[in-house]
Amino acid sequence: MPELPEVETIRRSLEPLVVGRTVATLDLRTPRLRLPLGEELRRGVEGRRIVGSGRRGKYLWFVLDDDRGWFFHMGMSGRLRFTGGVEAGEGLHDHLVARFVGGDALLFHDPRRFGLSVVDDPATSRLLATMGPEPLDEREFTPGYLAAFRRRTSRAIKDVLMDQRVVAGLGNIYVNEILFRCGLRPRRSMARLTFGDCAAVVSATREIIADAIEHRGSSISDFLDGIGQRGGYQYRHRVYDREGQPCTTCRTPIKAVVIGQRSSFYCPHCQR
Ligand SMILES: [Zn+2]
Repeated sequence: MPELPEVETIRRSLEPLVVGRTVATLDLRTPRLRLPLGEELRRGVEGRRIVGSGRRGKYLWFVLDDDRGWFFHMGMSGRLRFTGGVEAGEGLHDHLVARFVGGDALLFHDPRRFGLSVVDDPATSRLLATMGPEPLDEREFTPGYLAAFRRRTSRAIKDVLMDQRVVAGLGNIYVNEILFRCGLRPRRSMARLTFGDCAAVVSATREIIADAIEHRGSSISDFLDGIGQRGGYQYRHRVYDREGQPCTTCRTPIKAVVIGQRSSFYCPHCQR
């Protein structure tokens, strides 16, 4: 599932191609993904010019010339692809095809159909209302902010970081990498962390997310950006999907455990 760095990479790859373009037609080829794709979406987008873009957590949107946002969430398998002119050959899972005035098209491809596309006001959207701070927001996502959750929950630190209400945009790949970076096992109880542990989690989160954006995300599960290019952060994973391979720090084999139906990876020597 695309996480914050992948969604940001998609946004950055598409922004220069779509800003200034006007949507001529929006072809909706399925009645719904996670939410219905209907007349309201078509009316909201057709004839509008894209004037900018935004992202919050795993949501991205194009700002339209009426200040509304054309939102996308990639769900499990969503992919946005910009394609030139005649070659706009759509496939089976291209559920949404936006054609621009003057040619070119934007396709939303989503085999597993957990994605989303709606038009909404970014300032008041319910999609974003309960979302926690952005991990790179140094004023909001602080050691004190995270440490306060120690009194509110006894959940595992991994579950806490995966919760979009606590911090926005993290998923299984990056939470595994963050916990390796700060030496904490995924199952460690939030309630038992020290303030220093919380500070380490916050700084590891910032470092990993900034680094992953710089390397244009992780191309696993076929992730590609808006123009079909792979990311490079998968080559920097230290634990994610490395079960049985030697830890890059101490050579101990990486272990995998299932927590909440998802695999967690950690080094039993480096993480406590
Ligand atoms: Zn190790």
